[in-house]
Amino acid sequence: REEIGKLQWLIPEIDEMLGGGVETQSITEVYGEFGSGKSQITHQLAVNVQLQAENGGLHGRCIFIDTEDTFRPERIDEMVRGLDDEVIDSELEYRDIEGSAGDDEAMEALVDDVLAKIHVAKAFNSNHQILLAEKSLEIAKEHEDDDYPVRLLCVDSLTAHFRAEYVGRGELANRQQKLNKHLHSLDRVGNLYNAAVVVTNQVQSNPDAFFGDPTKPIGGNILGHKSTFRMYLKKSKGNKRIVKLVDAPNLADGESVMRVENAGIKP
Ligand code: ADP
Repeated sequence: REEIGKLQWLIPEIDEMLGGGVETQSITEVYGEFGSGKSQITHQLAVNVQLQAENGGLHGRCIFIDTEDTFRPERIDEMVRGLDDEVIDSELEYRDIEGSAGDDEAMEALVDDVLAKIHVAKAFNSNHQILLAEKSLEIAKEHEDDDYPVRLLCVDSLTAHFRAEYVGRGELANRQQKLNKHLHSLDRVGNLYNAAVVVTNQVQSNPDAFFGDPTKPIGGNILGHKSTFRMYLKKSKGNKRIVKLVDAPNLADGESVMRVENAGIKP
């Protein structure tokens, strides 16, 4: 078994809360309301995972299973340009691209190279999504001895198709069974290829909660113990977001802040 890798958000407070970053060989669930920034995080991690270790990355590529047509190459472009100049310069050098940060041609070449290392697959329904997770194993195997092995598997959104297709009480057990099977194959990619698995899950907060915590989402913990790390995102003023770590083994529950900016997610 390979040593567990830590993929940084490049937000010091959050990386510290996570004990260094998002872990490989684990499933991390990012959940929150619509617009809370779940997709922003998956896009940012798809960029960060490619960075060299000294810059917070895992020097790997990303498989991105896109279920709601939310993947935006333009957003990756903005986030690459939004990296620190020193990070950009070292990536350019490593990738044999001539020029430096801010140099138009070099930046375009860097963005293209980053995009080429994100394998986007659109899932049209839950069965297709399950199939794509199984195919991810093959992609990971193909790149196992590559300069950039698969180090991140994102599923954005994990649950949307399942929620839409399995409606009503009678379908709950069926839905759960399919979802468990899907999570199992995602987990296999993570464990066999030392990749981080990051999934998103849209939930509504519960403003009417009379007892208990009104920030505890409706629609609950359908992943159960399958996700090792659960992170709850909550909208705050403007572009500010509260990021909570919930019930992580060996880590204290914590709360941090991030901002969604044009340059990416930032402290
Ligand atoms: P979710 O996936 O949780 O539904 P998103 O990740 O799509 O939410 O986040 C949407 C938020 O990100 C919005 O507040 C939006 O203003 C912000 N956002 C999206 N793109 C940009 C951008 N290019 N520059 C700044 N903010 C952006």
